[in-house]
Amino acid sequence: MKVKFWGVRGSIGSPIKGHGVKEKVRKILTYASPADVLDEETIDRFLKSLPFSLLHTYGGNTTCLEVRSKKDDLIIVDAGTGIRELGNRLLHEDFMQGKGECHMVFTHTHWDHIQGLPFFGPFYVPGNKFHIHAISENIEDRLRYQHSERHFPVPFEGFSANKDYIQHKESDVWSVYGINISHKGMRHPGNSYSYRFEEEGKILIFGSDAEFKLEDMDNIDTYVEYFRNADVLIFDTQYTFEEQLQKIDWGHSSASIATDIAMKAHVKKLVLFHHDPSYDDEKLDEVFMRAIRYKEMMDFDKTSKLEIIMAYEGLEINI
Ligand SMILES: [Zn+2]
Ligand SMILES: [Zn+2]
Repeated sequence: MKVKFWGVRGSIGSPIKGHGVKEKVRKILTYASPADVLDEETIDRFLKSLPFSLLHTYGGNTTCLEVRSKKDDLIIVDAGTGIRELGNRLLHEDFMQGKGECHMVFTHTHWDHIQGLPFFGPFYVPGNKFHIHAISENIEDRLRYQHSERHFPVPFEGFSANKDYIQHKESDVWSVYGINISHKGMRHPGNSYSYRFEEEGKILIFGSDAEFKLEDMDNIDTYVEYFRNADVLIFDTQYTFEEQLQKIDWGHSSASIATDIAMKAHVKKLVLFHHDPSYDDEKLDEVFMRAIRYKEMMDFDKTSKLEIIMAYEGLEINI
């Protein structure tokens, strides 16, 4: 199984600003010595030596993931603004000729998880087939509503691809492309659902949007059981711990709470996800470093094998 991230931002799209680019260039110049800029080769070597966020950005698009089975069959998770670029990429494949087919799963229908759908090119190509899964009720109506002419110029009927809708109960376990899929309701205003993908014993869990508070931590056994032994857990870490304390019931968690849960559940890799739109790359670096330090501090007997990484647009993980 493989997962690629096309949108990692929470709440609203948030492209990098000119000031942010200028600050990156300024910092890069302070790191460079004359020997680093002698020719193309030394410049390339110097650029490769820089930390991730100086040369890249975590990304501004909202939630969209591409999950591929071992045989390369496609499952799309959510349709935030990141799905536009995924769609453009898919139009180089069978989806351009109307011969594409895939499954889509929706965690919930807050805007940041559906807003890219009107710009998803493969939906406009007749012949393509999409199987749309959700636990949230009336998923078709929810998606249609976004195409009311009050909100968008092209009606939902403009999507000429074939679509069918599969309504699951929370307790359902189902299978597509050899991947077993189960779910769990997350604590989030209006409800959201986590998806657990298991293929040949390898487990990927997508757990956003989800709010876990400090006072709930003694009462999360069913969640720990659900997350247990995941190879990869992608988790909502929108806020810093301090900010989460001020944003009770806003529906999101912090990296330290996510780390506690991942350690309890013996998760192998925790991916920090659903970055706050007000956090620039520098702040996200800080979120990441603090999560690493927190994990080291909490790993009293130094036995935890947990690896923590940050989600960024373009990140691919083989599971
Ligand atoms: Zn969200
Ligand atoms: Zn949400």
